[in-house]
Order: sequence, then C-alpha cells, then structure tokens
Amino acid sequence: MKVLLIEDERELANSIVNYLKGNDVICEWADTLESSLDKISSHTYDCILLDLSLPDGHGFEILKELKNKNATEGVIIISAKETLQTKIEGLNLGADDYLTKPFHISELLARVQALIRRKNFNGNNVVRFQEIEIDTLSKSVKVGHTQIDLTKKEMDLLLFMIGNQNGVLSKSTIAEHLSGDMADMLDNHDFVYAHIKNLKKKLHEAGCNDYIKTVYGLGYKWQ
Ligand code: CA
Repeated sequence: MKVLLIEDERELANSIVNYLKGNDVICEWADTLESSLDKISSHTYDCILLDLSLPDGHGFEILKELKNKNATEGVIIISAKETLQTKIEGLNLGADDYLTKPFHISELLARVQALIRRKNFNGNNVVRFQEIEIDTLSKSVKVGHTQIDLTKKEMDLLLFMIGNQNGVLSKSTIAEHLSGDMADMLDNHDFVYAHIKNLKKKLHEAGCNDYIKTVYGLGYKWQ
C-alpha cells in the first residue's frame, strides 16, 4: 500500500509518515503544491492525503489535476478548514473522504484502509471477522452460511467498524464516514443510531454474536 502525503506542517507530516510506516504503509511526502504535482505526474498511489493550504497554492489544484488525468487514486482531504462548503467543494472535485484536523493518526490509518478496500474492486476482496464474511466485490455479507441483506450504508458501517476495531468511533466520525453524499450531515447525527440499530438487528437475526458495543457518551466500538 503506497500513500502520498501532501502536507506542509513538518511535525504533523513526520508523525503521519512514521505512524503509517510502522503499519506497513509506504508513505511519500511532499510539502508544496509544485512538488506534489511533480509526484502525481510520474507516480501512482493507492491513496493521497491532501492538506488544502499549501505554501504555494491551494490543495484543490491537486484534485483538478487528478481529475484531468483520470487518476484512480483515492484522496482523503486532511484540513482544518471544516466549513461544509469546503467539504462539498472538495468532494465534488473528486475527493473520497475528509478528515478534519486535529485527528488521531489511528483514525487516519483506518480511513486509508477503508478507502483502499472500497477502491479495490479488481479482485476477490473478502473481509472476514469471526463468523462474518463480507465480499466487497459482490457486496454480499454472510454470517456463517446465512446470507444477509444490508443497505449500502449498513455495509459501509460494518466495514468501517471492522476496519477500526481497536478504537471507539464517535457518532460524528461515523456520520462523516457514512455521509459520502453529505446530505445527512446537514441535520443531526441521529441517523447513525438508526443504522447501528438496524445493522445489529440484522446480524443478530442471522445468529451473529454482538460485536457492536455502545460506549456511553463516546460512541461505538467493534469488539
Ligand atoms: Ca497547511
């Protein structure tokens, strides 16, 4: 897995690079718009982590360039500029996800892995956890030998939780992850509870153990 980090804050960049390296992710680093454009013109990555305010220009230029060359790279914007407008614009320009600074690097890694799993449709992409088997290619889920029908959001939620099983996921984190269309974010995050409830019910009815724990006041945890 190869990632390009575009970030001009040296300290943050160093900690991200080191953390990803420690988790077997190859991470290249660029700290200007110009050097980033250079890299994406000659290399391909599984995922690009993109800061928006760079010393010599705006990160959206990268998104435009990737779009121009029909690039397959997944892009996660990492930025402190968290207005809804910026998010929508970034997603419209082709970004896949958006993580607001400050964030936990473990969450960044989970997002990268989730993004790559979603993008990796060129093979038999099966994710397993105990009695659960998810085929991300055919979008089918089995508990033991029982097939269960999940909505797209429930499927996303299941993969996100399994992919992030060591930490507590807050409602807002889950909401951001699920709301690729952004529409839900305009309201409150109660829809997260509804998705969790439905997912739990479907898994339970198929005879699955209950791995989704509610962490009071904090969110949810897969364990
Ligand atoms: Ca910056």
